[in-house]
Amino acid sequence: MIPHTSKKHALALDFGGTKLAAGVVNIETGEISALVRKSTPAEQGAQATLQTMLAAGQEAVKRSGLESQILRVGVSFGGPVSKDRTTVLHSHHVADWDGIRLTDQISQVFGIPAYMDNDANAAALGEWHFGAGKGAENMVYIQVSTGVGAGLILNGQLFRGSALAGEFGHIIVQPGGPRCACGRFGCVESLCSGWALARDGKAALREAPLHSPLRELCAGDLDQISAKTVIEACRRGDAQAEAILQRAFTGLAIGIANVVSLFDPDTLVLGGGVTRAQDVLLRFLEPALQEYLHPLSKGRFVLKFSELNGMETLLGAALLA
Ligand SMILES: [Zn+2]
Repeated sequence: MIPHTSKKHALALDFGGTKLAAGVVNIETGEISALVRKSTPAEQGAQATLQTMLAAGQEAVKRSGLESQILRVGVSFGGPVSKDRTTVLHSHHVADWDGIRLTDQISQVFGIPAYMDNDANAAALGEWHFGAGKGAENMVYIQVSTGVGAGLILNGQLFRGSALAGEFGHIIVQPGGPRCACGRFGCVESLCSGWALARDGKAALREAPLHSPLRELCAGDLDQISAKTVIEACRRGDAQAEAILQRAFTGLAIGIANVVSLFDPDTLVLGGGVTRAQDVLLRFLEPALQEYLHPLSKGRFVLKFSELNGMETLLGAALLA
């Protein structure tokens, strides 16, 4: 039997806007040996979310049986973090996170050092090391889930700017468009994020015909409408859902065209829950990319989907450690 080397396991914690995940990751192979998932108690605020996550982390450590070999914690946070990556700047989805020194609190509980980055940067690292971005020199990872973000690998390194690089979700692509979580109007996130699609689906239901796929899928109940409902309604030929997704993914395509012009990536990876509906996404995204990409950018990069089944953020968090 080959003895375990002490440096290859890390506890990874992924703070998402709707879901929390904790796992023990072998950072050489990407194998996750214990995975604990919880819903984010978003309405109860930051402290409740933190307590839920700490309990999940402890459970993951215990279940992995590797307690003595875990020497670091890697943390992905669903929102911007400070330049020194110790402190949460803000969460658009859960109240009271601003200014919390998250790495200190986590390291105190587990008694080992903790390292943090935002979720899109973590996911970009995960995808670059273990997934669709393997071998890329210049890679843009775009995450479309509850919120929208991006992680940039430039010249073979994660690019953080002065702290906030990669806030792709808040590039304005439709001036005067819908209000965004950031308070402005027409950001990418305000058009194609999970919350934006749910908002548009609910608005559509109020004006939906008596018989429509959208109405049937949610049995006429506004609260049942999520991004998934809108995507499924579109698959069933719902005209309102098609219009919502046409606008949403056109906005995404304009954002992508701008980012491609700026960074000239060789690889562009799409990840996050909304991008798992590849059939529906590509139906709107491909023609919009043809329309909005600079002619010289066409054919210069490969468009890929995440290959890590939603685990890219957790795996990337482990790599931070
Ligand atoms: Zn915004």
